[in-house]
Formats: sequence, structure tokens, C-alpha cells
Amino acid sequence: MNVATDVKGWCPGILQPMASGDGLIVRVRPRGGAFSLDAAGALTDLAQRLGNGHIDLTRRANLQLRGLTGDRLSELQAELAKLGLLDPHSETEAVRNVMVAPLAGLDPAQAFDVRPIAFAIDDALTSDKGLHALPGKFGLLVDGGGVISIASERADICLAAAGDAIAFGLDTAKGTQWLGTLSPAQAAETAIAAAHAFLAVATRGRMRGLSEAAFAEVQAAVAPRLSPMTGLPAVGGRRLGLMGGAVGIAAPFGRLEAGQLRQLVKLAADAGAADLRLSPWRALYFRVREEAGVFALEEARRAGLIVEEDDPVLQVEACPGAPDCKSSSVDARGDARRLATIAAVHDYQGSIHVSGCAKGCARSLPSDLVLAGKAGAYRLIRKATTRGPVERMVGVAEFETLFGGGQDG
Ligand code: SF4
Repeated sequence: MNVATDVKGWCPGILQPMASGDGLIVRVRPRGGAFSLDAAGALTDLAQRLGNGHIDLTRRANLQLRGLTGDRLSELQAELAKLGLLDPHSETEAVRNVMVAPLAGLDPAQAFDVRPIAFAIDDALTSDKGLHALPGKFGLLVDGGGVISIASERADICLAAAGDAIAFGLDTAKGTQWLGTLSPAQAAETAIAAAHAFLAVATRGRMRGLSEAAFAEVQAAVAPRLSPMTGLPAVGGRRLGLMGGAVGIAAPFGRLEAGQLRQLVKLAADAGAADLRLSPWRALYFRVREEAGVFALEEARRAGLIVEEDDPVLQVEACPGAPDCKSSSVDARGDARRLATIAAVHDYQGSIHVSGCAKGCARSLPSDLVLAGKAGAYRLIRKATTRGPVERMVGVAEFETLFGGGQDG
């Protein structure tokens, strides 16, 4: 068994799980951004039977089963193979990082269904061995516009519907640089050409880290295929609740319990959906008949899930902490909920990260307010990551003091 522990620039897969404080993590990458309800139901059973029942929704729109042990891994892989979710090699699964608009093919406001583009890219990443050298975090994005868009998310190569065409973009240090448009029929092929062009100038890193000259070479490789931009793709972001024939439901801190996922699968089936759509916002989406949507949202709320955009928990990132992770001495998620409630009372608008320890698994970027657990209390850090300078130690009883006295958080 090939297991890694905290390797920079690398993500876990089914064939190459990652060791964590609560056992092995297995990341399952959907094809076309969705799991059929049968597959989602089977994943729920596997999470409970072979793992510890905890399931993560990741920021790259994948799903992770947690708490597995090495001796049950081959059984898990065999079950996932039956579901068509097992890649032929660890190299293949490592590069199959394609985010797809969660309402692709469902939202009538979209000009066309972008999923065929995503499937074509997925197939090329699987079959083209030349692409298996792409860095582990190298990713692509396929957006369809409409009521929710993922075009403002970061990916090395971006394809986003713009009218009847596809806008083509590459990631830079300043965000996506949209280079031109092309027909949907040429989109996958051009994205793959750009990935090859990246590998011609770099063997590691990301598109945004290329030198000016190297970036220009990638740009030159795709430029002949592009027409001038006539406007930028519509950008949007997470929406929860009922929208245009679908519902969006978020998992607190990106964590679902097996029972919650089972409940979502049932609600989706009852509402007439065929699949569960993943998103980079740690929220799931599924199609609903109008009358079933309200019921589904109410049941999801009752199951402890988030169905409204103004839920204060959405402002906070938190890892599991104790008791799930043995590296932690604090109940990071329980404390994060308390902190979210207090922050809402104070109308605090900054970003918040509550971490069980200094490792900061839930967020690698800086946050306005950071609490990193140590010896049953928290290091208070501001405008930094969990490794930033410590202002002081705080206990749960002192959370109220974090937002008063003119502190900006
Ligand atoms: S940050 Fe959280 S999940 Fe990561 S090792 Fe520390 S306690 Fe565990």
C-alpha cells in the first residue's frame, strides 16, 4: 500500500491514501462533477462500514472518506471499482482534478450543458500518459454560467461559458487571465493543449508561478485557437437554498456524517434528482421539483446541514480537532460553532479559522482571526495563518473578548 503523510503539493486518492490523525483519508474524484445517487449511497455505506463515518467535501469539489485502515483498503478499492470510481493508476487519479459547475445541464439560464467538455477533459487526463506528469494540485475548471458560477474560483486552466462560446483563461498571480473565446467543440482539446504546453516549460508548480517568458509560451500555444474576448464570463459564487429547479445545501465546516449523506441521497431521490453535484464551496446541489425543494431544505436543516447563505457557521473554517484527531487538545468544531454565534452577535465580517493545532489543515491561507489549539486553549493570531505570531492565549470563556474593545479582528 502506498500511503503518504502530509506531502506538500500532493493530494490523496483511492489508490494512494493519505495518513491523518484519524486514520487514512481516501479522496474520491467524481466524473463530470457529480455522483449518481446509487454511487453516493454506496459511498455512504462504505464510509460507515470501512471508515469512521466522517466524510469531507473538499474545496476542489471532491469527496473524502476518513478513518480507514490499511487492512481494509483493498476491499474499499474493489467496491469503488464496481462503482466505476477507481482510476487505473495512482498517476491518473492524481491528475484528474476537474471542477465542474454544479448546475451544469440543470439550470435553464445556461446557454448549453458544459458537462461533455468536462468528460472529454477527464478522458484525456486518464488516457494521455504525457499528462500524468502534471503537478498534483494542477487543476481545471469548467463553468456553465447561469444562476451560480464557479468562474471566479482559481484553477490553472479555466473554461467558462460566455454567450454561445467558451472563454478560455489561465491562472496568474493576479487571478484568471481570460485570453479569448472558442467554440464549445474545441474547448477540451484546447485545455489539453495548454496542459501540454505547461509541461513543456515546467515540471512542477502551478500556472500562476510561471515566469513571464514561460507563461507567454503557454499562451502562444493556444492563441491561434482563440478569438478575441467580447466580454468577461459572468462570475458568481455560492448560493444555498432553492434556486431555479435545484437546491444547494452546505456541510458545516465541510464535514458530513454518513447519516447526513444518506439523508441527502434519499431527499434527492424523492425530489426526482439523478445525482448529487459537488462544488468548491463544500456544498452539494441536486435537482428538485419545485414543491419538493422546500421540504428537502427543511429536512436538511433538521439533519444539521446549512441551507441559508447567512448562516454564521459559513464564516468559520475549522478542522475536526478532538476527539477525532489525536493531534488536538480542543474541540475545534464545537468551539468554532460557539465562536460563529458570538461573531454574528458582534456583526464581525472578517474570516475566522479555528484549528485543533498549529498544522492548520482546514485552511492554508491567512484569516483575519485565527485560533490554533494548544494544551486545551487557543493561540490567538490575527491576519495570518496558524503559524503566524501569537498575540496571546485564550480559552473558550474569553471568546467574547475577541470582538470588543476596538479590535478589528
Ligand atoms: S489541524 Fe486539526 S485536523 Fe489537522 S492535525 Fe491539527 S488537529 Fe488534526
